Amino acid sequence: MTQVAHRLASAGPQLPAHVGVLVIGSGFAGLGAAIRLRRDGREDFLVVERAAEVGGTWRDNTYPGAACDVPSHLYSFSFELNPSWSRSFSPQPEIQDYLRAVAAKYRVLDKHAFGTEVVRAEWDAAAQQWRVDTTRGSLTADVLVPAVGALCEPKLPDIPGIETFRGELFHSARWNHDADLRGKRVALVGTGASAIQIGPAIVDDVAHLDVYQRTAPWVMPRHDRAYTRLETLAFRHVPLLQRAAREAIYWGREAYVLGFAFQPAILQVAQRIAKRHIGSAIDDPALRARVTPDWQIGCKRILISNSWYPMLARDDVELVTDGIAEIRENAVVARDGTVREVDAIVVATGFHVTDSPTFARIIGRDGRSLADVWEETGQQAYKGAAVAGFPNMLFVIGPNTGLGHSSMVYMVESQLNYLSSALQTMRDRGLATFEVTVEAQRDYNARLQRRMRRTIWTTGGCASWYLDKFGNNTTLWPSFTFDFRRTTRRFDVAAYETTPRTDTAAEVRELTAVAG
Ligand SMILES: Cc1cc2nc3c(=O)[nH]c(=O)nc-3n(C[C@H](O)[C@H](O)[C@H](O)COP(=O)(O)OP(=O)(O)OC[C@H]3O[C@@H](n4cnc5c(N)ncnc54)[C@H](O)[C@@H]3O)c2cc1C
Repeated sequence: MTQVAHRLASAGPQLPAHVGVLVIGSGFAGLGAAIRLRRDGREDFLVVERAAEVGGTWRDNTYPGAACDVPSHLYSFSFELNPSWSRSFSPQPEIQDYLRAVAAKYRVLDKHAFGTEVVRAEWDAAAQQWRVDTTRGSLTADVLVPAVGALCEPKLPDIPGIETFRGELFHSARWNHDADLRGKRVALVGTGASAIQIGPAIVDDVAHLDVYQRTAPWVMPRHDRAYTRLETLAFRHVPLLQRAAREAIYWGREAYVLGFAFQPAILQVAQRIAKRHIGSAIDDPALRARVTPDWQIGCKRILISNSWYPMLARDDVELVTDGIAEIRENAVVARDGTVREVDAIVVATGFHVTDSPTFARIIGRDGRSLADVWEETGQQAYKGAAVAGFPNMLFVIGPNTGLGHSSMVYMVESQLNYLSSALQTMRDRGLATFEVTVEAQRDYNARLQRRMRRTIWTTGGCASWYLDKFGNNTTLWPSFTFDFRRTTRRFDVAAYETTPRTDTAAEVRELTAVAG
């Protein structure tokens, strides 16, 4: 299934004037939505993607060492297992090839408009539809499906003088492949999931690597290996075997939830393994102390790597934990005043998760943007999908759908069930609009945050990107993923205010179409 030749779909001629469903973004979520809508027998939809092809995360993160950290046999669509994954944790090019191949196989590329960025989407109450402006023209849609990803908008650190740096400087998610780092002095800013893949992948090539760490992550051993030919053949010819492997991975991962969400003491076992992992690679007690987190394992994302600690122990690598005071045209200055000259800076400081710029572009019923509303309430939705004040809109991967332990594709597919059921309900009941009630959203989030209070993400003693400015975890799902699957199984219309289709709205649409 991998390495399938892929012809880039062109942006296409003109956008249609109107679609039933407009999906924004074509990562796992948007692509999955397109496939689901087609399977449901719909043709009245379009996916707009600002980039030139499908893939999202896996198109954009091309840094050296990029790979998934949930085993590939689970981190893939349930309806399109891939017997040919080369390793337990497949590298980025393989995952991107998989997504291209899935898009081609399910024949949804003709439903994509590439190179088309949504710059504004506003609810038109009179016409009961979304008016959407893109970089390639405007259109209207009955239903809007933002599938814009939580880890999509690179976040640059706000360091004084960063704009004066004369060497190469780029974010991990926008790797500059023209920049030759061989023999260069490189600063790597950040020690999160991307940084710990990048460092070991470039360290042999560069002359010297400075690693700037704000907080030490917990890093567990990575049980990665290449699949044998026999295994691949078995997966190809005995699909049940692959299903069984997937199930085993799924339930193994779900066991983490017991520790994360119900009984944090269980995680002590993992913390002991992680401590031994440090000890086995680093002899220097001072360095060991600096890489040992002072918060409980699980509070932030648990990272996996066999090469991170050995890398930090090398003579040509320096771990800097004093923080960055300033960047000069050829150097990084630490808070203790030490000036370290560098030729290149790689910034691996994560993404705008709870403050994505997209939120300012979606304007709801009261003329307020999602950013305005969430500025006051914190990021929240009903079942990670619907937001009061934003009729006929369902996220795929919205607030509180993230995971620290398992495959996001499972969550995507759960939300696609919900979307599919919502559209079917609209059709069956002749609905023009649906909007989650304030009460349903409030009660759902109150319950969710009550559960969240017991989790390691709240009690673990860390500040993480999971938390918003109010200190609420609006990012993660605080329970088992099968619980989320159950919650999103069916569109629960009782939680929504609905309006039937009327001739008046149709007339308004016609009039606006003529006027437009
Ligand atoms: C380096 C890295 C490694 C990861 N590894 C794992 C892993 O191992 N396991 C796991 O479960 N998850 C992992 N994740 C999380 C990963 O983001 C999700 O698993 C998944 O790929 C998200 O898919 P998505 O479609 O929701 O979002 P994305 O893949 O981010 O796609 C969003 C798309 O929306 C488009 N878009 C955004 N705004 C607009 C706009 N205004 N107009 C038009 N298009 C727009 C973007 O261009 C993008 O293509 C990883 C993330 C990163 C960054």
